Amino acid sequence: MKSLVVQKYGGTSVGDVQKIMHVADKIIELRKNGKDVIVILSAMSGETNRLVGLAHSITPTPNQREMDRLLCTGEMVTIALLAICLENQGYPAISLTGRQMGILTDSSYTKAKIKEINSDVIQKYLDAGKVVVAAGFQGIDETGNVTTLGRGGSDTSAVAIAAAMKASICEIYTDVDGVYTADPRIIKEARRIDRISYEEMLELASLGAKVLHSRSVEFGLKYNVPILVKSTFKEGGGTLVTKEDSSMEDIVVSGLSCLKEQAKVKFIDVKDKPGIAATIFSSIADKNIVVDMIIQNVGSDGLTDLSFTIDAADVDSIKPTLQEISTSIDAEYSIDSNISKVSVVGAGMRSHSGIASKMFKELGKSGINIQMISTSEIKISIVVNKNDTDRAMQVLHDCFELGKS
Ligand code: ADP
Ligand code: ASP
Ligand code: MG
Repeated sequence: MKSLVVQKYGGTSVGDVQKIMHVADKIIELRKNGKDVIVILSAMSGETNRLVGLAHSITPTPNQREMDRLLCTGEMVTIALLAICLENQGYPAISLTGRQMGILTDSSYTKAKIKEINSDVIQKYLDAGKVVVAAGFQGIDETGNVTTLGRGGSDTSAVAIAAAMKASICEIYTDVDGVYTADPRIIKEARRIDRISYEEMLELASLGAKVLHSRSVEFGLKYNVPILVKSTFKEGGGTLVTKEDSSMEDIVVSGLSCLKEQAKVKFIDVKDKPGIAATIFSSIADKNIVVDMIIQNVGSDGLTDLSFTIDAADVDSIKPTLQEISTSIDAEYSIDSNISKVSVVGAGMRSHSGIASKMFKELGKSGINIQMISTSEIKISIVVNKNDTDRAMQVLHDCFELGKS
């Protein structure tokens, strides 16, 4: 059996025809070396945003099924263009949509989860000597409707396909040469990390490090597929996302991330009695909206305040539910969209103490107010005023000396 290479190229890597030709050259190189190749593509950079903009110019709350029908078109263009490039140079290739590959998902439009992949279809084309050019980001649900996997979801398509095809590694090509200690666009001294554990990467990705879609890391962890993040445009470098080993625990803080598109919801003077939290959060969960950082203040006079964060994108759709809850529990609510979440992540936090106190002290010295705090075994997240985000990132990057190797 030939060895199989699975590579994913993101939006900037296929941003125009010249760049798609460059990707074709890289694939031809692999074919010359006798490899089987599956390549997963995103839409051209900016295209998915353009499509979202079109729908939003009609209504802020477009029908979600139709949204997915619209958004999946971006990837259709790039896969066809790459297959045309390869065929034109004498390398047999076939572009395949999510439906053709049997990428079965649930029906949560715009944030669907992959349930199953039919590896037979892809295998058939590989056996026929073709390069398989797969559309990232898309699938179909049980009734055949097109679904998409959430913004950045092509990474997840790639790792899921690599797992289904039993590839030994999944390579993700993008516009940076690896995973950095913080977004290099925010922190100029950010340093590339050579190896990082799935668990740490999962925290960084779900807390805002856009370089990998968090579900892709979950797939990597679940099916033990190492993920190699590399630059499309520059040789060398790279970050391997892999199983944790003992050397990784020596590093207390591995990286920082931030989420700017957040909002804080606060219910004021809620009755401090059993069942209230269940009423609030079950109504929100029924709408498929994810909440995070739930904080309830110590009650006095039988009343308490309850706050939590949501994605800013869910603000419009959550409002009717908040109004219903407000009426049913007889408590007012407010929404603050001028916040962001900043997180410090590191496997070494399991065995080292004092990280939180150091973090809070440095932020205090810089006059940055912390509005909410939440922790897990390997991360500490805080909510700050949106205007303080980049400064908080810089203060924390400096205080944990992340720029030093
Ligand atoms: P693609 O279109 O290839 O999927 P993305 O824009 O989704 O690329 O992800 C790459 C971007 O992620 C980088 O340009 C960088 O600004 C951003 N990013 C955020 N956090 C990090 C990080 N910790 N390390 C590297 N890049 C990061
Ligand atoms: N094209 C989709 C997006 O822009 C998916 C991806 O690029 O991963 O979110
Ligand atoms: Mg991406």
